[in-house]
Amino acid sequence: MSAVTSRITRIEALRNEPLRKHTSWRVGGPADLFYAPTSIAELRSVLADLPATTGIHWLGLGSNLLVRDGGIRGAVIATSSLPRDLERLDDHRVRASAGLACMLLAKRCVRWQLGPAAFFAGIPGTVGGALAMNAGAFGGETWTHVEAVTTIDRRGTVRERPRADFEIGYRAVRGAADEWFLGATFRFDHDEASSMDAIKEMLARRNAAQPLGVPSCGSVFRNPEGDFAGRLIEQAGLKGRRIGGAMVSDKHANFILNVADATAADIEALIAEVRAAVEKTSGVHLELEVRVVGEPVGGQV
Ligand SMILES: Cc1cc2nc3c(=O)[nH]c(=O)nc-3n(C[C@H](O)[C@H](O)[C@H](O)COP(=O)(O)OP(=O)(O)OC[C@H]3O[C@@H](n4cnc5c(N)ncnc54)[C@H](O)[C@@H]3O)c2cc1C
Repeated sequence: MSAVTSRITRIEALRNEPLRKHTSWRVGGPADLFYAPTSIAELRSVLADLPATTGIHWLGLGSNLLVRDGGIRGAVIATSSLPRDLERLDDHRVRASAGLACMLLAKRCVRWQLGPAAFFAGIPGTVGGALAMNAGAFGGETWTHVEAVTTIDRRGTVRERPRADFEIGYRAVRGAADEWFLGATFRFDHDEASSMDAIKEMLARRNAAQPLGVPSCGSVFRNPEGDFAGRLIEQAGLKGRRIGGAMVSDKHANFILNVADATAADIEALIAEVRAAVEKTSGVHLELEVRVVGEPVGGQV
């Protein structure tokens, strides 16, 4: 691995940084350029330096990403090194920056008696990733609570946008093209009864239902309307099915685990097999919840 330097603020970029170090599945080939800016000024200088033809991929905690084994041609910008601010604005509203872990958002809000934020404890990613995915857990969903977001575009222009600028769906968000999230203002109902016990109880329920000690990306497929992807996969007899180092979890069939140095190709092959089997047994075409990025090995550079 070698380093290159941004002309303006001398930000170190890593060349050929293995992305398996930055994804919860622990798979993924190298990024041509990997930046971890520690301030908005550094981020702007990185954006200013990158040629318009260089693709940019944003990365939170990599907990919803399948990066292919050939890696990413272009630049990866990680938000987790940016300042992780959380500010209480009034009795109901907080401002959180994109690199903040959702768990921290949940815990601090619960201490501020903003109990409805507790669901964020179930999302092992950043606020930016939760905004991009409309992540949800325990009946709560990110964008239900968004009042406004701050975005940045390729030219480094920062904007404040109201929720109305975005089209929100189940694990889907559509808004201004080529803008990324720097943070959001959330509104939560005040709840005097808020306590950390609620978070502990949610996490205990989750531990009982999900295989959390093994690298995964959480749920691989979106739940089809009125059903559960996990139920359909189990019904197709795929619990425990293995390709290479990738295995359909015995505990929760919508989880594919990296049980033995899986490659992204192993995981993609298992995804294809699960899809085909569920289509055959239930007639349902499962849509991916995880985002697949990058090139296969031997892909065009
Ligand atoms: C064990 C486990 C359990 C999980 N449980 C849940 C769950 O209950 N509910 C749920 O919804 N998800 C769950 N997930 C999936 C994942 O945690 C969420 O999708 C999370 O929101 C991803 O956040 P991240 O920061 O890791 O994003 P990443 O995985 O790094 O990125 C996801 C996508 O968001 C984009 N992105 C990231 N940051 C930004 C930004 N600042 N601006 C614009 N785009 C950005 C990326 O480019 C990428 O397309 C789980 C994952 C695991 C491993």
